[in-house]
Amino acid sequence: MNKVFLCKETLPEETRAALVPADVKQLIGMGYEVAVQSGAGTKPGYTDAEYAAAGASVLQTADEGFLSADIVVRVNKPASPDGLREGALHVSSFDVFNEKPAVQAFADAGVRLVSLEMIPRTTIAQKMDILSSQASLAGYYAVILAASRLPKIFPMMMTPSGTISPARVFVIGVGVAGLQAIATAKRLGARVEAFDTRPVVEEQVKSLGAKFVKIDLGEMGQTEQGYAKELTPEQIDIQRKAQAKICAQSDIVITTAKVFGRKAPLLLTKDMVAQMKPGSIIIDMAVKTGGNVEGSNPEKDILLGNGVLVIGGDSLERFVPRDASNMFSGNITAFLSHFWDAESKSFKIDTGDEILRGCLITSEKKIIHEKFI
Ligand code: NAD
Repeated sequence: MNKVFLCKETLPEETRAALVPADVKQLIGMGYEVAVQSGAGTKPGYTDAEYAAAGASVLQTADEGFLSADIVVRVNKPASPDGLREGALHVSSFDVFNEKPAVQAFADAGVRLVSLEMIPRTTIAQKMDILSSQASLAGYYAVILAASRLPKIFPMMMTPSGTISPARVFVIGVGVAGLQAIATAKRLGARVEAFDTRPVVEEQVKSLGAKFVKIDLGEMGQTEQGYAKELTPEQIDIQRKAQAKICAQSDIVITTAKVFGRKAPLLLTKDMVAQMKPGSIIIDMAVKTGGNVEGSNPEKDILLGNGVLVIGGDSLERFVPRDASNMFSGNITAFLSHFWDAESKSFKIDTGDEILRGCLITSEKKIIHEKFI
């Protein structure tokens, strides 16, 4: 298995490419053969000529690529496995928890499905972690987006014409995206507060110069992989009440609170949003997984009657497609390199490897991942 095909994304809103020319060159240097669908890199700014110069062959259609590819790579899952060869490995993000019929369709078609979100969050797999690479860019961009829509500036300014107070930013959920949002808001001069249910986060928040909001939810902790545990309805109620006042005083609230494989908790109710100041902005980065904010919408921004703007901030990394593609491509290249077997000059399907065991969902016409059988 050494023929890799980079497929052009089909979602109109997608701006990224799963492999960039520098990484194509690296893979070819290792022994892979790479083909690229014409135009795959256009949106992040890479031309067919750059891929060709890196050593890839450029094909006009996806079907041509599927015919010979052992490994198909792309950012998003396709609508169906149609056209893919039996026995081929398909590597992309997949949202497997919410796409069970699609997973079954891949199993039925005999396509081996790798879901990149399922790569275990271990130290050795860190460089393959698309969740982290994309979330850090999304967290950065959430602040840039909010700053561009806010009717005030971020830093404090003392001038002969008057003193401007700093913008107040509240970040709820301080994982990878939340940490970048805090760092970016601090760099721009805002006064930043943050909350997360995982106690380990407090030190990280403080080290960025932000204030950690203390809310007593009882014993919390985190899962082995560093994820949050799901709250009880009573705990969510305590959290909402404790946060309401901070939201009311904030110019920007960025929510990133997610619980892996489950619906995101609803943390800002309509009543809480109604108490916020006119001109304030909420960005709900969990909008696609259920939403942290009541009424947020992934398709459109909503300007409420009280002048609060609610932005459904899904996949904000798509606004910085160059860096997002470079990082996504780096993750895929690390994955393909890890399983390269120099002796057989091939990708080695090693199900004894904990990384592949964690992310290989289907094989031999069956769903093989323990979480989905
Ligand atoms: P995520 O996207 O699943 O969740 C975002 C944040 O929301 C998390 O910090 C979570 O604790 C928080 N959250 C959940 N419910 C909440 C609530 N009710 N109120 C407030 N916050 C809530 O998580 P993520 O950003 O992908 O990663 C979380 C953590 O995983 C990281 O901070 C890190 O510790 C760990 N991690 C480890 C590795 C590794 O070891 N390779 C890689 C990446 C992340």
